[in-house]
Amino acid sequence: MPHEVRAVVATKKGAPVEVQPILVPDPGPGEALVSVQACGVCHTDLHYREGAVGDDFPFLLGHEAAGVVEAVGDGVTDLLPGDYVVLAWRAPCGTCRSCRRGRPWYCFDSRNAAQPMTLLDGTPLTPALGIGAFAEKTLVAAAQAVKVDPAARPEAASLIGCGVMAGYGAAVNTGNVQRGNTVAVIGCGGVGNAAIAGACLNGARKVIAIDVDDRKLDQAEKFGATHIINSRGTDPVEAVRALTGGVGVDIAIDAVGRPETYKQAFYMRDLAGTLVQVGVPEPGMKVEIPLSDLFSRGGALKSSWYGDCLPSRDFPDLIDQYLYGLLDLESFVTERISLDEVEAAFDTMRGGRVLRSVVVL
Ligand SMILES: [Zn+2]
Ligand SMILES: [Zn+2]
Repeated sequence: MPHEVRAVVATKKGAPVEVQPILVPDPGPGEALVSVQACGVCHTDLHYREGAVGDDFPFLLGHEAAGVVEAVGDGVTDLLPGDYVVLAWRAPCGTCRSCRRGRPWYCFDSRNAAQPMTLLDGTPLTPALGIGAFAEKTLVAAAQAVKVDPAARPEAASLIGCGVMAGYGAAVNTGNVQRGNTVAVIGCGGVGNAAIAGACLNGARKVIAIDVDDRKLDQAEKFGATHIINSRGTDPVEAVRALTGGVGVDIAIDAVGRPETYKQAFYMRDLAGTLVQVGVPEPGMKVEIPLSDLFSRGGALKSSWYGDCLPSRDFPDLIDQYLYGLLDLESFVTERISLDEVEAAFDTMRGGRVLRSVVVL
């Protein structure tokens, strides 16, 4: 019997989201039904609502969630009802060309539930990033539900599912920050601050936070930034050089994703340094850099997809670091809201006034 639950649906491009009843099927083979306890509001949900992630309306939004497994389908051997999980939008298939190459964190054929969730009239919903967790219950591939320590509060744990993992992983997995490195992070929202926290936890010697908003720079210091630069009135490339003996940082992370910030990250690196792009650009943006600079400055220009994470390895690790008091997930939670307040949370997000609004169910 399908479960009728309340959920946040984006019905058409640019329209305000609506809370509607939806039908969630019982889990089929390889699937898990999850009772959602908390789900963070991410920029990507807003991008779906604005039609920037394709035209497959209606979308079931929400993809940064923690909850409890309610039922599992046939063939699911490693999850049981009652397990506490964080949902991942990457569940490596194990057989695509990237998984076979030993790089499951790039999996090109990530698993999702096979059965659709629907509106009451049977219209299939497209779940955001294959999850759809602004709902009392959701259906996912069992491999998307990653067991973590139930001592972690849902509103903190949920953030591991997207923004915090993306930022932390950009520093630790993609940037490979090591003890003694110098790191700069441009953009101190949720993702940028998670990159700062990750760089600090991995032993970076200097972590330089760059933003145009002093309030965000204050937060960055709380997450461990050793230096801050407000780039509204200062050239951040010059400022970073001044803080690093004239040479630039080992790893520069662009958590904004605009041509200006990408170029700043490119030029604030030391020779042979690493640039990590984790901020998502808008379609049509272009960056122009002299080919001779690309060659002569050397190093690596990397893009970080979901923090290049392996959820089954990284989620329990980050949750444990939180429980040991090393990773301050609580400070990412600016406000707790209900399903009915997601549209208002998009406005708050546009104003840059929050790190994360989290729906608590
Ligand atoms: Zn997200
Ligand atoms: Zn794969």
